Amino acid sequence: MSKIILTGDRPSGKLHIGHYVGSLKRRVELQNSGEFDKIYIMIADAQALTDNFDNPEKVRANITEVALDYLACGIDPTKSTVFVQSHVAELTELTFYYMNLVTLARLERNPTVKAEIKQKNYELSLPMGFLTYPVSQTADITAFKATTVPVGEDQLPMLEQAREIVRSFNNLYGETLVEPKAVLPENKSCLRLPGTDGMAKMSKSLGNCIYLSDSADEIKRKVMSMYTDPNHLKVSDPGDTEHNPTFIYLDAFAKDEQFSRYLPEYANLAEMKAHYERGGLGDMKVKKFLNAVMQETLEPIRLRREELAKDIPAIWDMLYKGSEEAKAVAAQTLSEVKKAMRIDYFSDRK
Ligand code: ATP
Ligand code: MG
Repeated sequence: MSKIILTGDRPSGKLHIGHYVGSLKRRVELQNSGEFDKIYIMIADAQALTDNFDNPEKVRANITEVALDYLACGIDPTKSTVFVQSHVAELTELTFYYMNLVTLARLERNPTVKAEIKQKNYELSLPMGFLTYPVSQTADITAFKATTVPVGEDQLPMLEQAREIVRSFNNLYGETLVEPKAVLPENKSCLRLPGTDGMAKMSKSLGNCIYLSDSADEIKRKVMSMYTDPNHLKVSDPGDTEHNPTFIYLDAFAKDEQFSRYLPEYANLAEMKAHYERGGLGDMKVKKFLNAVMQETLEPIRLRREELAKDIPAIWDMLYKGSEEAKAVAAQTLSEVKKAMRIDYFSDRK
């Protein structure tokens, strides 16, 4: 069986360092490993519209922003197919058929959807499109017969739901769809990077992000005002590193050799953490080091991004090419789905 990746992001904002460590970095590694037969990366504009339907301009503007973030991080359009979801109408048709294979109760039980509904205070104004987005995600994944979906931890319930729908479909209509597997980041701190405010998840919708496109000054300002351990008041106080986002970011980004360059009194992060935990290491010093690490990580990405941003028509050309290619693949799957369901009434007339 072919090894195929499908993954993507909602163009609800520019991409941030949570996306980078949670999914994007891994995608680039998988892309360059040569182990996969096909890699599809989807800009999920239709999904972003489910909670931004009143602001399509925002979604439109962020399609190019997300594409620039991809290319700046090393996604290579000659190796990966980057496409825009709404251009592939077949995905909507698949969603419609899959909708019958999942109950309202099951969707309402999906822990990620549940948390997002609460976070957005939807109550009675919950759009149906938002509630059913896990079904449309199943369409996205299965349309490309994806075997592997590199995602952050918050997406695991979506993958579970996708697998259930695939099993129901195959049981009812015969073996047609492929069950996908999630690939999570190996580093525990990258599973769900917290926000700069200490909230459990850095998220475009929460405004607690360091963006891949942030200027050097913005990065510094955000790092220097980060939430740390609220009980670590004096430098001499023992501090907590486990729930402290500055240390979680260091876990995700710092390399041993950066200690010798910026903070030679520690050989590695474990030594630095031990000092903070026993007391005597101030937040200021931690943040200065974190700032140096973040600047070093993000500068090359930002510079590449600035270069690429000079030619936005080239970005749309790439997306159009990718979207046409994706459409052809999804159309093939849709015809197999309709055949399996025995609703391919006119296929002999073509
Ligand atoms: P929104 O708030 O609009 O949902 P988001 O920041 O959650 O935006 P998505 O586009 O929903 O971003 O997620 C894209 C991918 O990035 C998913 O695989 C998701 O798991 C991953 N991801 C998002 N935020 C984080 C994070 N803070 N840490 C690790 N992975 C993340
Ligand atoms: Mg999200």
